[in-house]
Amino acid sequence: MTDYCDVIVDILTSKTDKTFTYLAPENMRLQKGDRVLVPFGPRKIEGIVLRLKDTCDLEPSVMKFVLKKLDPQPAILEPLMDLAMEMAQSEQCPLAATLRLMIPAQMRMDRVKPKTETVARWLGGDLESAKEQQGRSQKRKLLLDLLSDGQVQAVSQLKLLVRDPLPALKHLSEQGLIDLSEREIFRSPFQRAAELLPDPVLTSDQEIALSEILPSVEKGKGSFLLYGVTGSGKTEVYIRAVRRCLRLGKTAIVLVPEIVLTPQIVSWFRSRFGDVAAVLHSRLSSGEKYDEWRRIRRGDARVVIGARSAVFAPVSDLGIIIIDEEHEQSYLSEHTPSYDARKVAQFRCQREGATLLLASATPSLVSYAKARRGSYMLLEMPRRVNNLPLPHVELVDMREELRLGNRGIFSAQLQFKLKECVQRGEQAILFVNRRGYAPSVQCLNCGKNIQCPSCEVAMTFHREDQQLHCHYCGKIEPLPKTCPECASPYIKPMGVGTQRVEEEVKKLLPDVEVVRVDADTTQGKHGHKRQLDRFRQGKARVMVGTQMIAKGLDFPSVTLVGAVLADLTLNLPDFRSAERTFQLLTQAAGRAGRSQRQGQVIVQTYKPEHYAIKAAATQDYLDFFKVEFEKRKRGLYPPFTKLVRFLVRDDSLDKARQKSGKLLIEIRKALQNNPGWKKEVIFVREDEAPIRRLMGRYRAQVFMKVLEQKEPSPFMAYLTDLQERSEGDVTLQVNPPSLA
Ligand code: ADP
Ligand code: ZN
Ligand code: ZN
Repeated sequence: MTDYCDVIVDILTSKTDKTFTYLAPENMRLQKGDRVLVPFGPRKIEGIVLRLKDTCDLEPSVMKFVLKKLDPQPAILEPLMDLAMEMAQSEQCPLAATLRLMIPAQMRMDRVKPKTETVARWLGGDLESAKEQQGRSQKRKLLLDLLSDGQVQAVSQLKLLVRDPLPALKHLSEQGLIDLSEREIFRSPFQRAAELLPDPVLTSDQEIALSEILPSVEKGKGSFLLYGVTGSGKTEVYIRAVRRCLRLGKTAIVLVPEIVLTPQIVSWFRSRFGDVAAVLHSRLSSGEKYDEWRRIRRGDARVVIGARSAVFAPVSDLGIIIIDEEHEQSYLSEHTPSYDARKVAQFRCQREGATLLLASATPSLVSYAKARRGSYMLLEMPRRVNNLPLPHVELVDMREELRLGNRGIFSAQLQFKLKECVQRGEQAILFVNRRGYAPSVQCLNCGKNIQCPSCEVAMTFHREDQQLHCHYCGKIEPLPKTCPECASPYIKPMGVGTQRVEEEVKKLLPDVEVVRVDADTTQGKHGHKRQLDRFRQGKARVMVGTQMIAKGLDFPSVTLVGAVLADLTLNLPDFRSAERTFQLLTQAAGRAGRSQRQGQVIVQTYKPEHYAIKAAATQDYLDFFKVEFEKRKRGLYPPFTKLVRFLVRDDSLDKARQKSGKLLIEIRKALQNNPGWKKEVIFVREDEAPIRRLMGRYRAQVFMKVLEQKEPSPFMAYLTDLQERSEGDVTLQVNPPSLA
């Protein structure tokens, strides 16, 4: 018999975990993973049962009882508990923090509750005499008639037929004629039930890929990297693999990178699997998220589609995890505890006997290198569905345009093609990787950019409110009339953002509806849906957007894609800038020509000779991979090395630099004392961070390049420990998504 349980309480005040032993009340059947309410000093607090035990060293009289079991089933499944422990270990954070990843935030501290409705049911017997019993109440007689078929009926439904039925129903219930009870209803993000669609005939590439994946799914193992060009029909491969899982009584998780894409892929999945599919993402209301989570936990939803955090979905009998567009940055979470959804997925698949399927038209360099080494099995789909050609890509040298006297943001070719496309009744997508109207505002006299008062970054001019916005901290400031530095009145918005592109399209094509899709227009739960719907219905002819729209979307009548300024990502001070540019352009190009009409892509650039741009123009992944891989090898960049830094934040630059200086001295000393570590470390230096001030805090860093090792590295363990011991705001980052 279990008398005691160890509970980890949901408190994150320190780096150590708080686990306490409680008495388990006899009538409360507790299980490992249960969410419980326990007394904690003067408070009541939530916790998770870590283990049950029948002995305890403590004196029972000083111990307290678990107050309440909060859910019918354990909230944390066994393999997810292991995962939480593993992550707490590797991220050096409390288990309570990693456990929070596994439960919707709304569930903690009871911020949402199951929603119920009152239902009524006739208990049977002689209907006529029951009606007679009601004397002159026509309402009760009518209600008895309505319930006489014995079906459970919601009071809200009866209300449509009978005014204010509840008092009468209560009366009938007191007479013992009907049963009134509460029934749980699940809030669903879908308005309608899914319409089921038939399966298409597979292409031969899809057949071949599936002939490898399906047997693996049967066996519950295998890791694959599916490299399939845009429009090769990767989604259909996912659907078939998921279906095999369901037939085997298993479950599936499908991760997608951007919420903007979710409606499309979700509707595809729902049209094939119906309500067995659940979605989990941050745009759901609390109630919906909570209910979808419970639908999954109870096993009613067996296919989970969602953004990165859905990798923690509480499915049992996991059969496959699919990661669509696996190269996307959004699979990295930078919040603490930070994680890489791809690694978490791999861990879960190994632990739970499931197949891992990573897929992309532009696999990340690291994943493709792994596949070449044999860590993943490489599958290829080099052709588009129906043998549609890949779109034709044309590079336009914007320097040439300038020479010809065109100072506008559209080249002559792009203007011509845009008009032609719209005249033919087709659609176009234009993308530029900056939201707002102009990414900077410059003084023409002294050359100064106007910066955010809290961050050392240029502010973006927005057209809607005619104000300056900081895209790092969200601060909004009025546009000054004169330069804050030299008082010159000549200040001018510079560069191109989505709002500017939208404006220019409207000037060029005054009668055409344009939709804009970026973080500013996609606020709120259904924010993105309205714009995408206008475009899908063909009412809007041109879509302007950021990288959000460059990937995954499937609009058959888009025949033209324009990259307004391809170099924006290329100029970022980051070793991944070429990779990101190639990915972005190839993905964007992939939006064109996805049905019978040939697609055309125009890439405007000031660097047409750059290898990333050239490879994107030929859409040749392997070409790009080879050049980039060699460059990384020669320059000692990931995957050959790790870029590691301590980021120090403080309220003055001096203080931040003092701290980073001290860290540098410590690390140098440690290297001196451990000569064996030196061959691993290529360099260590101390500096200001590239963005010196963010949200009012100054930033300094110790930056290191460390050779990638096969064995766990004692040097890295030392760094982790050093961070633990450091005081103040110091974070250790390994290959962070941004080095700014
Ligand atoms: P990808 O994700 O590889 O870019 P999608 O999965 O979006 O490609 O598929 C491209 C288009 O081809 C979609 O419109 C899809 O419905 C269609 N499609 C996929 N497989 C088939 C098939 N076997 N037969 C006919 N159409 C297909
Ligand atoms: Zn000035
Ligand atoms: Zn700011």
